[in-house]
Amino acid sequence: MKIAIDLDEVLGDFMKAFLRWYNHTFGSNFTREDIVRYHMGDLLGISRAEEIKIMHRFFRENGVDGIEPMEGAEEAIKELAREHDLYVVSARQNILLESTRRWINEHFNGYFKKIILGNQDSLDGEEAKGKNKICQELKCDVLVDDGSYHIESVFGGNVSVIIFNHPWNIYHRFPPSVKRADNWQEIIGLIKEREKVNV
Ligand SMILES: [Mg+2]
Repeated sequence: MKIAIDLDEVLGDFMKAFLRWYNHTFGSNFTREDIVRYHMGDLLGISRAEEIKIMHRFFRENGVDGIEPMEGAEEAIKELAREHDLYVVSARQNILLESTRRWINEHFNGYFKKIILGNQDSLDGEEAKGKNKICQELKCDVLVDDGSYHIESVFGGNVSVIIFNHPWNIYHRFPPSVKRADNWQEIIGLIKEREKVNV
C-alpha cells in the first residue's frame, strides 16, 4: 500500500521541542496536556496570525534538529517500509525542506520514497497544498496524521485515516471509519487490518 505519514507529532515530537522553547522564551509553563486544540493560539492567548509568526520564529531560532523522533517511530517505519511505499506528507513550509530532509535522513534514512511539504502558513506567499490534494496525487491508501483539520480534508476520498492520539485531537469527534492509535505499535496493527481489506 501507499502510506502517507505526517511528520510533526507523528514521526517527530515537535510539541516537546516547541514547548521547551516557548516556555523558556515567554516565561510560561505550558505542558502538552494544556494543548487541547490543534491551533494553539487560543490557548496561548494570541491570534492565529501571531501563532503563525511564533511557529516561524521557533523554526528560525531552533531549526528542526532538536525535535526527537516519537517513541517507537524508527522501528515501526523500518518495519512498514519492508512491505509498503512510505511518503512523508507534512504541512511544513518549503523553506524547511532541506532541514526536514536532513532530519528524515538522520532518523529514517532510506525508508521514505519522498518528502512532500504542503507549504501551509508560509510567509513567502507561495501556494499551499492541502493534504487532500497531496494524498489524491499520490493515490495513497492510508494517511497517518494527528491534525483534525488535515484528517477532515481527506474525507470523501479513498484514503483510510489513522489518527495519532494527542490532547489536541482526543475530544474531536470523527466518523467510525477514522481509526485511533495511541502509539506506533497500534498504528502497525491498524495498517495490517487495513491491508486485509485490500486483498
Ligand atoms: Mg502533525
